[in-house]
Amino acid sequence: MPDPAAQQQTGSRDDLCLDRSRCLRVRFNGSDCSHCLEICPAAAISLEQGLELDRERCTGCLLCTSVCPTGALELSADFLACVAQFSKVPEPVLGCCRTKEQANGWLACLGGLSDEHLLYLVRQLTGRLTLNISLCADCPNSSMLPFLQTRLKNLAAGGGCSITAIEKADAVSHREENVDRRSFFKSFRTSLFQTAAVIMNAGIQNTERRSDYTSKRVPERRALVNRTVQQLPTEKGQQIARLFAHQLTFSEHCSTCQGCVAICPTGALTTKDRHQQPVFVPERCTGCGLCVEFCLDQAIKLSPAPN
Ligand code: SF4
Ligand code: SF4
Repeated sequence: MPDPAAQQQTGSRDDLCLDRSRCLRVRFNGSDCSHCLEICPAAAISLEQGLELDRERCTGCLLCTSVCPTGALELSADFLACVAQFSKVPEPVLGCCRTKEQANGWLACLGGLSDEHLLYLVRQLTGRLTLNISLCADCPNSSMLPFLQTRLKNLAAGGGCSITAIEKADAVSHREENVDRRSFFKSFRTSLFQTAAVIMNAGIQNTERRSDYTSKRVPERRALVNRTVQQLPTEKGQQIARLFAHQLTFSEHCSTCQGCVAICPTGALTTKDRHQQPVFVPERCTGCGLCVEFCLDQAIKLSPAPN
């Protein structure tokens, strides 16, 4: 039987990392991005004065982290620690903070499992991975469930492990090989995000980051895709890469001002020659659209890559 106290517990805000300087609304007041606002079931996000999170209202479902294109709202890197440990456990179970006793590893809430996270799990593990969703239906964060189920249904990775979400607690087969969420944290962060220019200000709680506005960083979800693609044979890697890729072209109206290079939060646009159109680096692009919104010449065309 689950601990009654745990039954009251919902997602923890500790797994939600906030970095206002990455938010499109903060970087450019002409941006109309509102993915986080639209998906948040608790009305805990406001964008009128830049990105603000009402921590009293936030229930920690982490859905916003699964849609934010820039890493302004992002899952903390404990996920990678879980995956590293899972590879040592036959048929691991991933739970949330309410089902952590019936899981080998857990996230605050499974609502944070984006398409990119699921892809990464499928490709990193073999055999079967169970998602323990036995307490999700009656959880205050239950609105994340349809999103998770749709993502699982649309998961097009193929190969690797199979992921099964199990709703009945007695159907969850869990071996007592618990995962220490923190033990691999440091090494994984270092290896995956060694190029990230994240400045952690003294005095800011560890659920907040404050990057330099001029720094460029590939958001963690995009980094998971890149990491997965790099580990696959070329043809399969290209197939997966196309699912997350965007095409970007400049028209003859481009005045080569390089403004898009400056505004792009991920470093997907770079200057090779100040008198030439910028160079596009597709594996860094998340399709956030900020360059399109910002371009005074209306010279940028962005679209998902054809599959
Ligand atoms: S989804 Fe991300 S970039 Fe868009 S408004 Fe929300 S925090 Fe800003
Ligand atoms: S190139 Fe444009 S769409 Fe891609 S990440 Fe940069 S600003 Fe966003």
